[in-house]
Amino acid sequence: MCSNDKGGFVPPDANKLVARCPACKAFNSPKNIKCKKCGADMPKKS
Ligand SMILES: [Zn+2]
Repeated sequence: MCSNDKGGFVPPDANKLVARCPACKAFNSPKNIKCKKCGADMPKKS
């Protein structure tokens, strides 16, 4: 079930809003070229 009667937060396009560091799993802005937390290179899509 995907609906949420309580109006809870269900991000539909989380992958477009954030980029996740492959090294430490921290969430970063997709604009970041390096992880703000650990400094690892972020994967770049297209
Ligand atoms: Zn990281």
